[in-house]
Amino acid sequence: MSVSNLDELFLHHLKDTYDAEKQLAKALPKLAKAAGSEELKAAFTAHAEQTAVQIERLEQIFEMLDKPARGKKCMGMQGLVEEGKEVMEEDSPESVMDAGLIAAAQKAEHYEIAAYGTMATYAKMLGMKDALRLLKETLSEEKATDEKLSALAAAINFEAQNAD
Ligand code: FE
Ligand code: FE
Repeated sequence: MSVSNLDELFLHHLKDTYDAEKQLAKALPKLAKAAGSEELKAAFTAHAEQTAVQIERLEQIFEMLDKPARGKKCMGMQGLVEEGKEVMEEDSPESVMDAGLIAAAQKAEHYEIAAYGTMATYAKMLGMKDALRLLKETLSEEKATDEKLSALAAAINFEAQNAD
C-alpha cells in the first residue's frame, strides 16, 4: 500500500487499529478467565464489552471515508497479545498471575492510547469532526481502563509481593 499523504496515513492507522481491536476483543475474555480476582475479571469483561463498541465506532469512520471496514494485521498488538499468553502459561500464585495480567493489559492499553491519540490528531487536521468525536470517545475509554487497572494493581501488586 502506498502512503503518500495524511489521508492515506490516517486510513493506514484506521486499518491497523481495527485489527488491533479485533485481536483484543478475542484476548480480553481469555484474560478474564485467567484472572483470579473477581474485580479484575469484571474489569476485563467490562472492557471486552467496551471493545465491541469501539470496533463499531471504527466501522462508522470507515463508512464516513466510504471505505470498506477491513483491518490490516497489527503486528504491535500481535506481540502484546503473545506476551499476555506467555503470562497465562506461567504456573504462578494467583496474585502474581493477576499482577502479570494487569501489566500485559496495561501495555496493550497504552498502545491503544497512542494509536487513538495519533488518529485523533490526524482527524482534527483533516477536518473530520465526526470522526474526531468518535476517536476521542474511545480514547477516553482507553485512558479510563488504564487508570482502573492501575487502581486494581495497587492492591494486587502488594499481595504479589508477599505471595511466596
Ligand atoms: Fe480498545
Ligand atoms: Fe482498550
